[in-house]
Amino acid sequence: TARTPTVRVPTLTRKEDDRPMTATPRTSTRPRLFTPGPVEIPARILNALAQIPPHHRTDVFRAVYKRVSEDLRWVHQTEGEVLMLAASGSGAMEACVVNLMAPGQKALCIVGGKFGERWASICKAYGVPYESIDVAWGEAVSVDEVAKRLDADPSIRAVFGTHSETSTATLHDAKALAQVTRARKRLLVLDAITSLGVHALPQDEWGVDVVVTGSQKGLMSPPGLATVSLAPWALAEIEGDRLPRFYWDLRKARKNLPAGESAYTPAVSLIFAVGEALAMMKEEGLAEVHARHRRLGAAVRAGGQALGWTLFSKSPADSVTAFEPPAGVDASATIKRLREIHGITVAGGQDHTKGKMLRIGHMGAYDLSDVYVVLAALEECTQAQGRPGSGAVDAARRAWELA
Ligand SMILES: *Cc1c(COP(=O)(O)O)cnc(C)c1O
Repeated sequence: TARTPTVRVPTLTRKEDDRPMTATPRTSTRPRLFTPGPVEIPARILNALAQIPPHHRTDVFRAVYKRVSEDLRWVHQTEGEVLMLAASGSGAMEACVVNLMAPGQKALCIVGGKFGERWASICKAYGVPYESIDVAWGEAVSVDEVAKRLDADPSIRAVFGTHSETSTATLHDAKALAQVTRARKRLLVLDAITSLGVHALPQDEWGVDVVVTGSQKGLMSPPGLATVSLAPWALAEIEGDRLPRFYWDLRKARKNLPAGESAYTPAVSLIFAVGEALAMMKEEGLAEVHARHRRLGAAVRAGGQALGWTLFSKSPADSVTAFEPPAGVDASATIKRLREIHGITVAGGQDHTKGKMLRIGHMGAYDLSDVYVVLAALEECTQAQGRPGSGAVDAARRAWELA
């Protein structure tokens, strides 16, 4: 995999709190990202970004816009429409709320982490009456509970959920959720920002009404482009009286799409980037992309566990893995040492898990060799804190082969 081209030769800084660990000189000459977004950007995509952006009201760009929109339908496996917005993922989430909900209509938000919470925050900001299903961090939502809540309150119009909850590295059962919402004629709106291009999510086959994503996760691109995918039967759901909407008005995006036009100036360079990402995924094949992520997830989980780290999630996603440290090992010190000695950036915990976990992102252009790199470094950091442990790389290879 080609990497970030800037070669930064860092100087080793010795800080007070490095002292309990073995004093090891820095070994890395370039930064490596293992964060659950943004992710490493392959050279092909960087090259796509480097071209001079054409004016967006030209035939050249219209053709690109139409092709990328077609390829987005391919990755979502929908005959509906995928609308592109110049925004981070949260913008697409907000667009869903304002385009699907009329004043006074009620929502059900599945809250099992930071990103589930975001649905509730958006509803609150717009005065949408909502109920939450609070799910323990690291657990997947009980589909029966969702069914029960919908049966108890026929006025709930839409369920807002998360497919892969990045803050807890947890996968929710999108297929089963869709069965529940379809059977009760309610809308299911899924945040698939860290699952698209990682886990299978055949939108039309499973019956998911609306799916949102962003460019800086499974789509291997810089942040700034977000999408809303409407299933064919859900296209009419954005029509009529809804919450106040202007920039997020998806009717405008939809009206202009067949002509290869966007409502406002589109994120031209990012559309080139995502177009290249989709071309790479088409070359690999969608099933192969999902299978590779299944192996990546299995390998990282096995390697960390071989070192005594514990999986945080009871329903682990293949986009990101959350580990709690073994006794005597500190998560924050590990994150710091991974960065300072090995040049590897991983994420920590959020909210009440802050300082208690580390999260390794492995979505996008990652392979088994990348897993070796991050696990060998994790092994060194674990040993440096006085905890014996080895065999992470072997465990990863075996898990990769079996997955
Ligand atoms: C990253 C992410 C988002 C969106 O975050 P932005 O910073 O707005 O791009 C939303 N949901 C999940 C699950 C995510 O991982």
